[in-house]
Amino acid sequence: MLSRSQIDSFHERGYLVVQNLLSPHETDILDEWTTEVFRHGCDEDSGMMSYEEINGLVHWASSLKTIIEASFMCTKPDVIVVGAGLAGMSAAIAAAAQGASVVVIDRGHGGGTSAVSGGVVYAGGGTRQQAIAGYGDDSPENMCRYLALEVGSAVSDATLSTFCRESVHMIEWLESLGAKFEGTLCPFRTSFPTSQYSLYFSGNEKARPFSDVARPAPRGHRAVAAHQSGMSMTGRDLWQAVFESALHIGIKFHAASWVQELRLDTRGAVGGIRFRVMSPDAPLFRVHKALTRNAAELHAMQKTKKCTPEP
Ligand SMILES: Cc1cc2nc3c(=O)[nH]c(=O)nc-3n(C[C@H](O)[C@H](O)[C@H](O)COP(=O)(O)OP(=O)(O)OC[C@H]3O[C@@H](n4cnc5c(N)ncnc54)[C@H](O)[C@@H]3O)c2cc1C
Repeated sequence: MLSRSQIDSFHERGYLVVQNLLSPHETDILDEWTTEVFRHGCDEDSGMMSYEEINGLVHWASSLKTIIEASFMCTKPDVIVVGAGLAGMSAAIAAAAQGASVVVIDRGHGGGTSAVSGGVVYAGGGTRQQAIAGYGDDSPENMCRYLALEVGSAVSDATLSTFCRESVHMIEWLESLGAKFEGTLCPFRTSFPTSQYSLYFSGNEKARPFSDVARPAPRGHRAVAAHQSGMSMTGRDLWQAVFESALHIGIKFHAASWVQELRLDTRGAVGGIRFRVMSPDAPLFRVHKALTRNAAELHAMQKTKKCTPEP
């Protein structure tokens, strides 16, 4: 069970602890698990542990997902954003720019799919990067003609038109948050460029019938890695820049906080959330961070293992 001081530390952070959820059995598992993790001296990136050890711990962790249940925060923010991927962080920054106090909540430690993505932003209409590559004559109307044919009825005309009109500004906005894009054009056809190129034809712009309705222009803007890593998937760099900007302007972030219910007020509007949260002070929190960050890799390893016949 949570100790009085642990509950107090949640209160200090602004959580209202509603209920203590750990059963005695779960408490035993937690103790055993924590002891095991310390025995292995796992650091945040879990580089010290073998696959088998981590996998065993993941299994254990999944039997103990949460520690306490929390409800509305004592000091209610104007806006609560659920999910700290690129969509959530962008919404949070936009709300904060309008003067709102914002809290972002994530069941993991932020990043989501965005941080494992290729980091390619589809943008055009005359971005600075397109101009460097010799395609400065792309216009919002030209981009819109291409996309209208590509997306069909999946997106409304009004949304598509706004997306194209705002596209140059979107890239500039991301740059203002620290993301980096360049105009080095990939000369060959590819679904994803190697790390030396940051602009490419990511769609069917050059193929007919698209090239009949719109001048082909490269619009795949791949974010540049913050540090030379040789990696071409730069979603994490893009997300990290946006995330750090958000923290910098005072947006609060709560990790390992799993939203389970939207609470409606009498008019049916969302008035709050119910979520489960893991204390950032708990040793488990550090391990949870390391394990969730490596989850995709672990999953891939597990799949490879399953597919490989026993010798
Ligand atoms: C391998 C791969 C490569 C890709 N490459 C590209 C690309 O180059 N360009 C492109 O445009 N698109 C790409 N995509 C698609 C793109 O990554 C996604 O469309 C985009 O990241 C979605 O962003 P998001 O913010 O909506 O969601 P996410 O980034 O997934 O964020 C959602 C967040 O919500 C949190 N969450 C969910 N439920 C809860 C809950 N109940 N309580 C609290 N938190 C919760 C999750 O933990 C997560 O952090 C790629 C996708 C994949 C898989």
